[in-house]
Amino acid sequence: MDLTYKRTNVFLKADEKEKREIAAYAEGYKKFLDSSKTEREAVTTAVGMLEAKGYKPYTLGDKISAGDKLYLNNRGKSLFILRAGKTDVAKHGVRILVAHVDSPRLDLKQVPLYEKANIAYLKTHYYGGIKKYHWLTIPLALHGVIVLGNGKKIEIAIGEKEDDPVFYITDLLPHLSQELNKSTIGEGFSAENLNIVVGGVPSGEDEKNAVKKGVLEYLNRQYGVTEEDFLSAELEVVPATKARDVGFDRAYIASYGHDDRVCAYPEITATIDADTDETVLTILADKEEIGSVGNTGMQCVLIKDILDEIAKSYGVNPAVLRQKSMCLSADVTAGFDPAYASAFEEMNASLIHHGVAMSKFTGRAGKSGSNDASAEYVGYLRKAFAEEGVVWQTGELGRVDLGGGGTVALFIANNNIDTVDLGVPVLSMHSPNELVSKADVYSAYKAFKAFVK
Ligand code: MN
Ligand code: MN
Repeated sequence: MDLTYKRTNVFLKADEKEKREIAAYAEGYKKFLDSSKTEREAVTTAVGMLEAKGYKPYTLGDKISAGDKLYLNNRGKSLFILRAGKTDVAKHGVRILVAHVDSPRLDLKQVPLYEKANIAYLKTHYYGGIKKYHWLTIPLALHGVIVLGNGKKIEIAIGEKEDDPVFYITDLLPHLSQELNKSTIGEGFSAENLNIVVGGVPSGEDEKNAVKKGVLEYLNRQYGVTEEDFLSAELEVVPATKARDVGFDRAYIASYGHDDRVCAYPEITATIDADTDETVLTILADKEEIGSVGNTGMQCVLIKDILDEIAKSYGVNPAVLRQKSMCLSADVTAGFDPAYASAFEEMNASLIHHGVAMSKFTGRAGKSGSNDASAEYVGYLRKAFAEEGVVWQTGELGRVDLGGGGTVALFIANNNIDTVDLGVPVLSMHSPNELVSKADVYSAYKAFKAFVK
C-alpha cells in the first residue's frame, strides 16, 4: 500500500470518453462567458438556462413545495436557485452552492464625459482588485444600464459584435518612457488616467467641446440619452475579447471573468443536471470583489430570509435547518505559476489540470479574515468526492505573508452553516484575460454534482 499523497492529473486519469466530455463541457462554458460579461448579464443568461429547464420565478413569501424548481432574481444582479427536495430538511438541511458573478472592471463615474485635445473621453472608477496597466491599449466594451429621467431603463452593450466599435485607453510610447520606467508599477499608472476614448468627430466648427457635443448628439440619437442621464447609470467597461481556446491541444480557455464565472457555470449546470432528493440552494452573488457588501452581496440577510422561507414551508425550525445545512463557497484560487514560482509555496499551491481546489482557509497573515473549515467537514467532503470519482486537490492562495484574499465563505458560515472554499485554479487571476484548464472546469462540475447528491 502506497502511504504517500500524490495529486492526480485530470487529463491523465480521464479515458477517451471523459476527455470528449471535458472538451464538450468547455464549449458550453465559453458560450456562457461570452454572453455574461457583467453580473447583470450572467444573471440574465442563468435565468434563460433555468427557464429552459422549467424553473419558475419565486417571490419571498410564496409557499415552497417538495419538487419545486424556482429562482429568485434579486434586482437583476444576484440569483438564488432553489430545488426543493423530498428529504427532511430538519435532518439533511440545505445543500448550498455559492459563486459570484461580478468581476474586476472599470465602472463609469457618474459625471464621466469630457473632451481634451480634440478627444472625447469617459472617466472611470475601477471596481475590484486590478493591475491598472492591464487595461491600457486593449479593446474595451461598454455594458450596463441607464435609467432615464422618466424612469425608462436602457440596456447597453457596445463592443461585442464584429462590426461594433470598441473603446480604448492609451499608453505612453517606449521612446518617451524613460521617466515612467523608473516608477514602480503601483505608482506608474494612475486610476485617474484610466479614461476611455469614446469620440473624435466635432459637431460644429470652432466650438469649444465640439467633440463632446458630437458624442452627446450620437447618444441622444441612438438611445435618447442626455449628459444628466449618466447620473442614474451603471455602466461597466470590460474587455471586448471573447473566450478562446489556448494551446495546440486546446487544454486551456483564456477569457475575461473566469473569476468567478468558472465556478458559477458549473454550479448552474450541476444544479440543473444533478439527480438528487436533497434541497439545493445555488447562489450567484454580486459584489464579492468589493467585500460582498450591499443588498446584492452575500453579507445581505436575503440568504437567511430564503432559508427561513424553506423552513416555514417544510414546517421545521429555521435554526435547526441552518445548523444541518452545508455550503461550498465556490470561488477561484491562484494556480501555481512557474513563471512566478517565488509567490507560491509549491507543496500547497493548487496545480493546473489537477482538479478543483479546496481552500480550507483563505485570508491573510495568520489566517486573518478567513473561514477556517473544520477537519470534520473536509473529511465528509473527501469521502463524498471519492465516492463519485471527483479529482480534487487543496490550494493555498500563495506564500504565507505575501498577500492574501477572502471569499464569501465566512459570511455563509456566520449563519451557523459548515462552509469551505472549493474552486477552479486560475492563472493571471484578475487580469482582463485569465487562464484556466478545461480539465479543472469539468472537475468543478463533477464536484458540485457530488456535493448536492
Ligand atoms: Mn472570486
Ligand atoms: Mn476575485
